[in-house]
Parts: sequence; structure tokens; C-alpha cells
Amino acid sequence: MGLDPKRTVAELKELRELTGDDDGAQRVAWTETWERAREWLRGLVASTGAEESVDAAGNQWFTLPGESERAVLVGGHIDSVPNGGWLDGCLNVVAGVEVLRRVAEDGTPPVSVRLVNWADEEGARFGRSLFGSSAAAGSMADQDELRQLTDREGARLPDALAAYDVDLDTALDARSELDAAAAYLELHIEQGPVLESLGLALGVVLGTFGVERHRITWHGQAAHAGSTPMDKRRDALAGAAKLALEIREIARRAGGGAVCTSGGVVCKPGIVTSVVETAEQLLDQRDLDAQRLATMLAEAKASSERFAAEESIDVDWERIWSIEPILFDETLRGFCEEAIGEVAGMAHNLPSGPLHDAAEISRAGVPTVMLFVQSLRGLSHTKLEDTKEEHLELAVAALDRLASKTIAWVAAGGGR
Ligand SMILES: [Zn+2]
Repeated sequence: MGLDPKRTVAELKELRELTGDDDGAQRVAWTETWERAREWLRGLVASTGAEESVDAAGNQWFTLPGESERAVLVGGHIDSVPNGGWLDGCLNVVAGVEVLRRVAEDGTPPVSVRLVNWADEEGARFGRSLFGSSAAAGSMADQDELRQLTDREGARLPDALAAYDVDLDTALDARSELDAAAAYLELHIEQGPVLESLGLALGVVLGTFGVERHRITWHGQAAHAGSTPMDKRRDALAGAAKLALEIREIARRAGGGAVCTSGGVVCKPGIVTSVVETAEQLLDQRDLDAQRLATMLAEAKASSERFAAEESIDVDWERIWSIEPILFDETLRGFCEEAIGEVAGMAHNLPSGPLHDAAEISRAGVPTVMLFVQSLRGLSHTKLEDTKEEHLELAVAALDRLASKTIAWVAAGGGR
């Protein structure tokens, strides 16, 4: 038989039928539809002989025991956002089943091979992303905040978890799942426009962006729009406007895919007859290189001071959130590039803007790499999300090659 990538496409369509409606995928974690998807996955894997287990954080594991306990992990998430696409998350899981089948067919592998379906990657119901993978990685540190979370109907997160035998007090026990993990592989749709614009099916993911997220408050003086001469104004919006344009130059100077976004400005008093007194501006900066990200932030701050002086206003900065860039493993990136070369010809290296479960596993010290497949029109988290079937098939073939190379590497003593 061997690997059958067309079967993966057929199974993805089956899952879409089973768990979607006219508005898209409805596999929101900790719901009946999500559970139906997990049951369906259980049935799919059964024929491979892999053993199923569910860990303390609700992650679903399928293990093909090898000659060694050291394990190569292939992972994804079957949960979706409401009205989501048919590929985000589940592509990696269903493609992983095909890899398991092929490995099982070849006989006992030299190292164990484990497929993991991470619980609640999207955080769609309670607003907390990467639930299962952060528990397994040991980085979940917000249990007290999680206890307070409710969904839109007022249901509490702890109660929703309890229905699936998950308890926040013991969720971190999932860490033991990574004890024997030697390497982690994840295939995902790109969810952006880069590969399509290059006319390429597949790409090697270099890592996930670091993020600096800040609230910048500009303080000026409200004054009458009619009686205040232009040179006597202390206009808070002028500072925000100058910075909104300056961050484009800052990102351009940084190069290498760096991005800066001013996602909103709220002005007060916000009436047509007054100069703006306060302008609250949101800034998001992302880059794969920690030093470049720090430079971009320093430049934005220095520019804001300059603009404040020019406009005779004041400026305050407040960090909302930040995360360091995560670079994937160099050896695995090399295997990924080879695998893509073998099935599709050219590979492109690109960073990931969105975070993924792979970032958590990489942070936990497990050598990790991700493989991207082209997204049409760069759309995701909508039912319009799509990828050409021939590209999906290439992605399954590349993931299988990547898994083979990684298994051989770990068997020879590579990996963690
Ligand atoms: Zn995803």
C-alpha cells in the first residue's frame, strides 16, 4: 500500500461533513462537536495498532511503540474556531495518521512514533490559546486566571474541563508526556499569502515571531477647533499619527520580515470641534530575531519622544504583552528543506506570524520544526480557508519524508 496522500484529503472532507455546517468548521474545544471529532480520530487510527491515551490536560495521544522508548512526535489540533476553515489544525492531525499507517506498515520502528492531538489550541471558547501544549510543555502558569474564565453563556472553564476529566490542579502532569520526546514535527497551513505569492506549495518554518505589544498614550490639551491657531495647539493625535507612519519605516529598516502595526487609536474628547487631548494608541511589533525586535521597540520609543517634543505633548508607554521569538531546530529545518526538495522541488524558508503548539514544545526544549503548505488568498479562521488538493497531497508526502529522516536521526542518537 504505502503512503496514500489522497486518502488524507478524503478523510479531511469526511471530517468537514461530520463536524461542520454551512458556516464552516464547528469543532470548538470542550464541546460535543469537538468530542465527536476526537472519536472519529480514534476510529481512524485504530487500524494502525497505535495505542491511545488521553493525558491530564486532555491531549489525545496515539503511540506506535518502537524498539526504543525515545519518541518522534507528530502533532496538531483538531479543534477549530467557530465558523472556521476545514484545514487549520486538523490537516496536521489527519496527515499524521497517514504517516502512522505508513510507519506501522513498515514494521516496528527503531524509535517510538507518537501522534498528538493537542487540546484547545485555539482558545475559541474561553480565550486561552495553546491550553494542552502549554500544559505538556510545563509553561502554563496562569491556572488562577483560568479558574475565573467563563464562556459567553457564563459557563466556567473548570466545569467545561471537568466534563472531559481535566482538572487545572493536575493539568501540568501532562509534562511527563514529553519525557521521552526526542523531536517534534508539525505540518500546518500557512494562513498567510507568502507561499502563494511565490508560487510555491511548501515552506520550511524558521520559527515563530517574538511579539512586543504596547499601549502608547499621548497627552495634549483639548482646545476649541475654531479659536486655537495652528501653531498654539497641543494635539495628541498628531503624535499618534506621526508614529503610525514612522513604524512603517522602522519595520522597513529592520527588514527580514519584521512587521509593525498600529491597530487602533482612541481619541478623547473625540468630537469634531476640539483638538484631541488624549490619544491612546496600540502598537504590535513582531520579528524572528530578538535583537532586531528590541531595536524596533527602542526606535519606536525614541521616535515617540521626538514627536512629543515637536508637538509639545507628552507620551507614556505601557507594555501589554510580549513573547520572545522561538527559532526551530537547525538540523530538523535541514531535514524539512530536503523533504520539500524531494517532493516539490523548491523550498522557501519563512517565519510564522501566528503562534502554534510547536512554539510551546520548542520552548520546552524538544527539537522542533514546522512545515507550511500554501494557503489560498492567505485566508484562515473563516470557511473561505482553502488549499489546493494537489498541495495538500504534497504536504502529506513531505511530512512523511520529514518523519522518516527524523526517525533515522533519532535512532542514530540525534534529538533530545
Ligand atoms: Zn492551527
